[in-house]
Amino acid sequence: MSMYDVVIGLEVHVQVRTESKMFCSCPNKYGAEPNTLVCPVCMGYPGVMPVPNRKAIEKTIMAGLMCSCSIAPYSKFDRKSYFYPDMPKNYQISQYDLPFCLKGKVHISGKGFSGEELGDKEIGITRIHLEEDVAKNTHLAGYSGIDFNRAGVPLMEIVSEPDMTTADEAYAYLSALKQIMQYAGISDCDMEKGQMRCDVNISLKPTGAVKFGTKIEIKNLNSFRSVHRSLLHEIKRQGKLLDEGKILSQETRGWNDDLGETYLLRSKENAHDYRYFPEPDLMPFKFTDSDIDAFKKGLPELPEAKRERFVSSMGLTTYDAHVLTLEKAYADYFEEGVAFTKNTKQLANWIITELLRELSNANVSIAESKIRPKQLAELVELISSGAVTGKTAKDVFTEMFQTGKDAQSIVKEKGLVQVTDSSEIEKFVTQAIEQNPSQAEQYRSGKTTVFQFFVGQVMKLSKGKANPQIVQKLLKEKLDS
Ligand code: ADP
Ligand code: ZN
Ligand code: MG
Repeated sequence: MSMYDVVIGLEVHVQVRTESKMFCSCPNKYGAEPNTLVCPVCMGYPGVMPVPNRKAIEKTIMAGLMCSCSIAPYSKFDRKSYFYPDMPKNYQISQYDLPFCLKGKVHISGKGFSGEELGDKEIGITRIHLEEDVAKNTHLAGYSGIDFNRAGVPLMEIVSEPDMTTADEAYAYLSALKQIMQYAGISDCDMEKGQMRCDVNISLKPTGAVKFGTKIEIKNLNSFRSVHRSLLHEIKRQGKLLDEGKILSQETRGWNDDLGETYLLRSKENAHDYRYFPEPDLMPFKFTDSDIDAFKKGLPELPEAKRERFVSSMGLTTYDAHVLTLEKAYADYFEEGVAFTKNTKQLANWIITELLRELSNANVSIAESKIRPKQLAELVELISSGAVTGKTAKDVFTEMFQTGKDAQSIVKEKGLVQVTDSSEIEKFVTQAIEQNPSQAEQYRSGKTTVFQFFVGQVMKLSKGKANPQIVQKLLKEKLDS
């Protein structure tokens, strides 16, 4: 295959999490019995009037601000006409030329789908607009069903600039977008529930050429994996055609996940004419600078900003910060704990290594963890104040994990307080040396590696409670004398 530059732009649909639908008061809920969450408005009866959902608009503006977009001072809804069973009004209320959010960017870094490290990069956002979702068709053997529960659910469309150049970058962009939406409580982005859906645009051009090639759109991808796979497939397919001297024409394709290939849905000649025009039943929206400032004050911290803060002011490594911001709930847990210990690095270590592992083994979410952040911070304090040894702490942790008891009370109940009394430790030291005269002889004749053996013996005699530093010091004194 000759050398081509790959150009990728994504159109991502994200359902906004709200109590009710976009233009009526039906619940916005997934998984109910089909056609039970409907009313004349979302069923498109003649003569009904839409009433815009304030929360959905606020969350769309929040999404825009989280992606560094500018918020349009003047925006409106439009009617997008088309005829298809999933759209009972024969038009969808959407936004055409004056969407809520324009010109933003999303920062990507970290790993792509193949696990390859990507550099830092900004992906431009062209626009974010708000529309109503359509009904869901289900095609079964011999008949089709339509569920209107989804019709009218608030749906954002986030259009990117053609800034991505690999399938891995597209994957990283989607991950970043999903993380932002989840952080801000805008959407859960559960792809299995159709809360996040993606159309992919891709073209190839000869390496270094300025002019973009003909774009092919792959519609309705419903997992990050299929985005990645379909892009890899399309890059190969288009490259091969171009190598053969073929001229590509603009088309829309579907993705067959079983075959691992795309197929033609429609060519440009059959493109829709949506006959957009302003929605006459809804007033345009005006946002002043002070409205937008007020929105900005309510914004949560971006995952990226959180990572930077964890590293710069909490002494965590980039890796720690990455893991602790994978889910907002992890970061929340950590930050709640930080209020109770100065040993932020240790707390992070306990969350990342012990807590997340145990939670995953037990298939429990961090929000449901019996160990609350304050309790884990208290355990970290017990270790750093020398009240318990690291080894004892692991046992205490296990018990805390199962029972939700405080570290302090477990330590008291079981008599696990660290022994720091030198005279008591000295007894164990003497005992260990007396019980192992030949090892003592070896040590004294120069085989100093048996020192660790003695440390182990003393710890065992003390049931893991002796302060390791004092053990080392006393052992050295006794053996060297
Ligand atoms: P359309 O008018 O067909 O919807 P747009 O210009 O609105 O096309 O772009 C839709 C999406 O396709 C955007 O995400 C954009 O970044 C991407 N895109 C546009 N041109 C190309 C191209 N030549 N190659 C790949 N992606 C492209
Ligand atoms: Zn309704
Ligand atoms: Mg477009």
